[in-house]
Amino acid sequence: MAGTQTLTIIKPDAFGAGKAGKIVAHLEAQGFVVRAARVMHLTAAQAGEFYAVHRERPFYQSLVTFMTSGPCMPMILEKEGAVAALRKAIGATDPAEAEAGTVRKLYAESKERNAIHASDSDDNAVREARFFFGEAEVIGAR
Ligand code: ATP
Ligand code: MG
Repeated sequence: MAGTQTLTIIKPDAFGAGKAGKIVAHLEAQGFVVRAARVMHLTAAQAGEFYAVHRERPFYQSLVTFMTSGPCMPMILEKEGAVAALRKAIGATDPAEAEAGTVRKLYAESKERNAIHASDSDDNAVREARFFFGEAEVIGAR
């Protein structure tokens, strides 16, 4: 999987506002291919585990509350150099600092309610894809 797949989540703010279709179309237009997708309402345990790296940060509880506030849409996306390409496509964590044309500049509300997640390394992309999907979808990991 290294290099060609990454894991994204359309977060509850964007999914609940009906922006999922526009965000998927935006990413497909940039050459990303949807390899797997699902819609799910995360439990606090799931959101807490997914963002466990931020456990000690002051925003952690608020982040878990936000990520469990409604359904979200995890997806495996494919493209050459997928991790770096998707990080560039989504823009900075804070939409106020995101470049024009990025998903967060276009669709995010705030630094916390920022529309979309993207894996930050190939190792995390594999780990995160396995968090949401089975071996049948994580084809590149075989
Ligand atoms: P993500 O991991 O969701 O792709 P990111 O890598 O851009 O986002 P991280 O530093 O990993 O940013 O933070 C994870 C998420 O926690 C952010 O996307 C945002 O929703 C929330 N977050 C980060 N920093 C803050 C903050 N200072 N205040 C509120 N929420 C924050
Ligand atoms: Mg991150």
